[in-house]
Amino acid sequence: MPLTADRLTRRFGTRVAVEDVSFDLAAGEIFALLGPNGAGKTTTLRMLAGLIEPSSGRVCVGGETLSRENASRLRGRIGLLTEAPGLWERLSVRRNLLVYAKLHGLPHPDDAVAEALALFDLGDRAGDAAARLSKGLKQRLALARALLHRPDIVLLDEPTAGLDPGSAREVRELVRRLRSERRTVVLSTHNLDEADRVADRVAVMRTRLLAVDTPAALRARVFGSRVRITVGQAASAYVDLLAAAGFRDVRADARTLSIGVTDSASAAPALVRRLVEAGADVLSVAAEQAPLEDVYLRLLGQAEAGRSVRNQ
Ligand code: ATP
Repeated sequence: MPLTADRLTRRFGTRVAVEDVSFDLAAGEIFALLGPNGAGKTTTLRMLAGLIEPSSGRVCVGGETLSRENASRLRGRIGLLTEAPGLWERLSVRRNLLVYAKLHGLPHPDDAVAEALALFDLGDRAGDAAARLSKGLKQRLALARALLHRPDIVLLDEPTAGLDPGSAREVRELVRRLRSERRTVVLSTHNLDEADRVADRVAVMRTRLLAVDTPAALRARVFGSRVRITVGQAASAYVDLLAAAGFRDVRADARTLSIGVTDSASAAPALVRRLVEAGADVLSVAAEQAPLEDVYLRLLGQAEAGRSVRNQ
């Protein structure tokens, strides 16, 4: 189900938590919100979930503008995992789910719970009090609960925070499964590697959106495309040759050449041909991938620089 944020702004008193945030998400898209602490990610998710109203702007769920009148109906299409999902610690895993199934008015609550227990592999812990679960299992239960009513739109606030690598991977696999079921997922995370691995598009925000795009496009926008070629000889021997062939941005380090290009896929064969003709032994060729962390920090840095220029 499509989800749209249209010029969302939210103030708390005089503080602006979110300003003029817009994006359009298609069904089956995974969208990651990245930003430093206090950037407005949670506030954005809460507006998308219809838990708080924007000060201005609107949220559209499946083309319908979220309003006070339809919020409770539309919330039935939305699942939200909050940052600290309160489980009823003394209730069993099964009852934690059953209470929610009834709250959502599901027609066959016992069946829905049995299905969720199986899907999230919680069947053998169904009778245990939630308090006795490990952190990873608690998160799994919280996710099972957020997805119990099979929402078309899934909002996840830092779903892997504090989880060990194995449990975090499980959650990521689950998020990918949601995509294959054509659900729309918005998640916030401080784990840039995770955003890179699961998200179709990422938004870097600090109150405002600084950039929205695929991780690959953001990399290209911030750093340009580069091809990395390892040769059997000293790389510096080929710098002039490549420059003469029109490649202006060539760096050499030991046996590795890094060449700035417009498009790495179309430039790589020509580069390799030149090098081989010049007698180089080409050992490996790859599109250079800046870590998303570098892209993120650069975007925040640029925004900071822009802000200080404006304030001068
Ligand atoms: P984090 O990564 O630390 O979770 P975040 O990006 O989720 O941060 P928000 O929790 O949305 O950021 O907070 C954005 C800003 O809005 C912060 O300055 C925060 O103090 C403020 N804020 C959020 N909720 C409220 C509230 N209920 N009342 C007053 N201020 C609030």
